[in-house]
Amino acid sequence: MTQFTDFGLAQPVLRALEEAGYKSPTPIQAQAIAPAMQGRDLCGIAQTGTGKTAAFALPILHRLAETPRKAIRRGCRVLVLSPTRELANQIAENFSDYGKYLSFTNTVVFGGVTISRQEKALANGVDILVATPGRLMDLIERRSLTLEAVEILVLDEADQMLDLGFIHALKRIVKMLPKERQSLFFSATMPKNIASLADQYLRDPVQVAVTPVATTAERVTQEVIFAHTGAKQALLNHILRDPVIERVLVFTRTKHGADRVVRGLEKVGINASAIHGNKSQPQRERALAAFKDGSCRVLVATDIAARGIDVEAVSHVINYDLPNVPESYVHRIGRTARAGANGLAISFCNDEEKAYLRDIERTTRQKIPVGAFPEGFTPPSRQEAADNAQAEERRPAPNGQRPGQRQGQRPSSRPGGRPGQGRGFEGRGGENRGGSGRPSRSDGGARPQDGRGDRRPAAQGEPRAEPRGERPRAPRPQGGGEGRAIGWLDRGPRS
Ligand code: AMP
Repeated sequence: MTQFTDFGLAQPVLRALEEAGYKSPTPIQAQAIAPAMQGRDLCGIAQTGTGKTAAFALPILHRLAETPRKAIRRGCRVLVLSPTRELANQIAENFSDYGKYLSFTNTVVFGGVTISRQEKALANGVDILVATPGRLMDLIERRSLTLEAVEILVLDEADQMLDLGFIHALKRIVKMLPKERQSLFFSATMPKNIASLADQYLRDPVQVAVTPVATTAERVTQEVIFAHTGAKQALLNHILRDPVIERVLVFTRTKHGADRVVRGLEKVGINASAIHGNKSQPQRERALAAFKDGSCRVLVATDIAARGIDVEAVSHVINYDLPNVPESYVHRIGRTARAGANGLAISFCNDEEKAYLRDIERTTRQKIPVGAFPEGFTPPSRQEAADNAQAEERRPAPNGQRPGQRQGQRPSSRPGGRPGQGRGFEGRGGENRGGSGRPSRSDGGARPQDGRGDRRPAAQGEPRAEPRGERPRAPRPQGGGEGRAIGWLDRGPRS
């Protein structure tokens, strides 16, 4: 089996990997690192959770170690484009981690925070700049940044980038880059539009692929529980009372839905927070930090918000709503069972969602086993559920907003999603390394944007991670699952 030492990576990089406890390269790393170190372009199909960040970060850090030179003023040597702030932070943190024994500068810029601090951080140039496209364009337009000296371009989660409407920004950005450069392109899926983008931007790329998008992570045990919509909250509350579930990520289709689920949990004394595009940057960061440090074991997220966030030890993923895009299901459940750990994914499915379930099963070529209601759980009758729903609708919202809607904002949201994990499963062990507050030499003095904790307030600026407006709510449930004997709960965590 390939080892990290086989690649000839610079010693400081190997040392950091050893310290991180990485024993051997993941499949995407095994395929990507050598060609990337040779300066080849890469076209990688890999999802978050496969180790794709290190697949591009390690060769880049190696290159910086081998060819130290000062970045030009207001320029960068490496440009990494990310669709969301969360992913951008995560990538920058990974660079800081893997490069902790190297001397380089690393800055992350995204919308929603004061631009002047970012301008200051860029003034003398940086080695690595991780950016979301909108803010990057703002900085270029203000002449605070030039792309003329970029040596390596990384385009991460290209499919997501297009989904979020960044295609025009992306085209403009690529035009400004030097023709002579190395380009590393990663996408979880490779539909035609992404493939043609890759064709345009890459020169004779090496193709690398792992976990075809239609393949669900092997170590995730899956289960679907049929429940009518009105029973879902009670079912979730019941399941989450089990302390075995130490860190759980709950997915809803809409932002409004995420807030509603959090309120439902809080009503029964279960502490939870929501993360979605209507939350301010500080709110998101607080929620994520609490989830990471274990002070809040339940994070409720929309698909987009969850993208790219890497939290170790998410034991359970619960799909409160089934996604209507099968790939989202694969992404969601991939948030558990990260890097070799085991995980459990439970999906609630009402009558209307049965069509989504069929699509998912067709796409993943897997039948998801049907689980029963947990022992001791009695689903509310449809009448009780309807009464509760009405009470919820009547609930006064602060400032006259609809629940889940921010002031001054159109009611809107697209699904988004993200990860976590719990003990009880044989996690890889170790802390999430992207954590805050660790000393590093790689920040170039760029505090708030340096990708290591210290996050600042967000306002507007970057197109939000969920810019398209809320999807129509799923049709009201008619059907429901009738309780069966017992489910996974008393079986405890699976391995
Ligand atoms: P990514 O797909 O880049 O988001 O990485 C997913 C998780 O796997 C992160 O927590 C990484 O720290 C971890 N990871 C990446 N490469 C390895 C490796 N070779 N061995 C163990 N863990 C890894």
